[in-house]
Amino acid sequence: MDQAQTRTSIDPSTLRGTVDGRPWDPEGGERIEVVNPATEQLLASVPEAGEAGVAVAVASSVGAFEGWRRTVPKDRATALFALAAAIEEHAEELAELESADVGKPLGAARAEIVGSADKYRFFAGLARSLGGVAAGEYKPGITSLIRREPIGVVAAIAPWNYPMALTAWKIAPALAAGNCVVLKPSPETPLSALLLGRLAAEVLPPGVLNVVTGGAPTGQALCVHPDVGMVSLTGGTPTGRAVMAAAASSLKRVHLELGGKSPVVVFDDADLERLVNALRVGAFWNGGQDCTAASRLYVSRGRAEEVTAAVAEMAAAIEPQDPFENPGAALGPLVSLDHRGRVHGFVERALAGSDAEVRAGGELSSGTGAYYRPTVVSGLKQEDEIVQREIFGPVISVVSYEDEHEAIAMANGVEYGLGASVWSSNIDRAMRVATSIRAGTVWVNDHGPTAVEMPFGGFKQSGQGRDLSIYAIEEHTELQHIAITVGDPGAGKR
Ligand code: NAD
Repeated sequence: MDQAQTRTSIDPSTLRGTVDGRPWDPEGGERIEVVNPATEQLLASVPEAGEAGVAVAVASSVGAFEGWRRTVPKDRATALFALAAAIEEHAEELAELESADVGKPLGAARAEIVGSADKYRFFAGLARSLGGVAAGEYKPGITSLIRREPIGVVAAIAPWNYPMALTAWKIAPALAAGNCVVLKPSPETPLSALLLGRLAAEVLPPGVLNVVTGGAPTGQALCVHPDVGMVSLTGGTPTGRAVMAAAASSLKRVHLELGGKSPVVVFDDADLERLVNALRVGAFWNGGQDCTAASRLYVSRGRAEEVTAAVAEMAAAIEPQDPFENPGAALGPLVSLDHRGRVHGFVERALAGSDAEVRAGGELSSGTGAYYRPTVVSGLKQEDEIVQREIFGPVISVVSYEDEHEAIAMANGVEYGLGASVWSSNIDRAMRVATSIRAGTVWVNDHGPTAVEMPFGGFKQSGQGRDLSIYAIEEHTELQHIAITVGDPGAGKR
């Protein structure tokens, strides 16, 4: 393929999956086209692994498990440090692939790649301090030990919005705890994962990390495979339901990082300039294709017009730009033309027959690429579809409230509970409201920052389990109690 056309230094069509440390490229079968959303050009086509591909990858990981789980933590940590170094060494190629595949501005893609290397290092460190909490006699004559054992083969199913970052969130704790992983990237954006698999083959034993491609059929095959011990999904809430249902057939563990619809609760004493600056990133970074994107703005009725006007002015000033030619752009295209159509559909339906008003954006651009301007819609009601459903695009909906009680009820009045922010200079009120919101992360006077040391995940239908932090590595383990009787076996009794 012409690389001037793909704009990447690696030809994406030459990338393959990795199984057992070798390139994986099944002959025949269905293939999925991978398209650059900025240029609408074909980048590559990748195989749908399906049941047959999954069987081969899982068998390889089963074969590798016994050896990997018996490695001492220091050796697992060393391997993960080497993987982090390889990612940094190939950061530019990975960033180019990510930018071409997802439509991310190149600068944002570079930052994501470097950030992902840090996740492998963090979990490499944790591998060496993971242990049970008790060793002692809790029955006479019996010494108890608690061990943390890996689960076995973990199927990691990733989304398209932050392919490298969220893959690191999923596989670093799994590998650090001694599990083997079969990674299935999103069929929309598989390219960086294919290169990651190739890099991992240089530093990990064969089969410890296998990478196969495909969509829902391949995801389902992983969920029902009897030798997969855990499915770790980052994806939409409907996908979470499908994964949980399929995993139930063999009672697999499920770890679900799902959709969100994060509220931004603004009180009269909020610092407006700070709010606007935070929403520029919190709502529109990555094209709003972010599970914690600031998408529901709740403003007290008295201040609604002032806040809406300021946010709309900020949104209107953001210019979507070609992600490759403008590495520092605030916004590139959305991930695909289909997704842009879906995002725009929410705006169109909101405007049909209600008091809703578009204050910025809201139009489909003509020309090449899945570009969509930052959009602000006001005059909405809590029950409107655009307020209730996850859009996953650069769209803020504004709803006004009467009092603190109503603001909390509205913030909690959706099926999601992933992120939220509270804006007030009164610390009593900020704490009262933050602890009343049912969400995995609540920011006070900011929206969006995460830290690898802190847990990340959802309440309600935003998922189960936590990524990042010590909690993520613990979730990738089984607890084992070893009870050692010294002397007469009857002495301890039951
Ligand atoms: P998606 O649910 O369409 O796909 C996610 C992954 O699941 C893909 O690899 C896909 O092929 C696979 N999949 C789809 N159907 C499946 C099935 N029936 N069985 C098994 N696997 C299946 O999500 P997406 O469009 O790639 O990503 C956007 C969604 O991800 C949004 O809802 C977003 O909020 C969510 N997300 C959540 C987090 C979080 O940490 N909570 C982070 C990023 C994205």
